[in-house]
Amino acid sequence: MSTSEPSIFSRILAREIPADIVYESESVFAITDIAPQAPVHLLVIPKTGEYRSVGELAKADPALLAEMVAVADQLAAERSDGEYRLVFNTGESAGQTVFHVHAHVLGGQLPEGTLA
Ligand code: 5GP
Repeated sequence: MSTSEPSIFSRILAREIPADIVYESESVFAITDIAPQAPVHLLVIPKTGEYRSVGELAKADPALLAEMVAVADQLAAERSDGEYRLVFNTGESAGQTVFHVHAHVLGGQLPEGTLA
């Protein structure tokens, strides 16, 4: 569950690394992605426990996963038109680069892609 070194997201949460924190509650926070892939590209991240993947989080704390989804939905409504894609990359071959679970919230005109 936890790694020895804090993840980049934990360092952002600790304000050691600057980021645009657009939402924060007791258990979840959200930032704008540093390399946006859509007009609205947010990352929703749990504060408690550096779960490596969405599957790990779902098994350990389903309520926290549900809160992430609810926050993603709220932010998409506030910052876009409420229509969005929610992506959890899981594993290196799926494109995961930060092993601290996070939901990508992609809104606005989305790029062409295999799921489009
Ligand atoms: P993954 O590839 O693990 O699904 O997503 C990691 C995401 O984190 C990428 O979209 C990447 O652009 C974003 N990211 C990595 N480092 C930083 C950072 O220091 N600040 C912000 N705001 N986003 C980051």
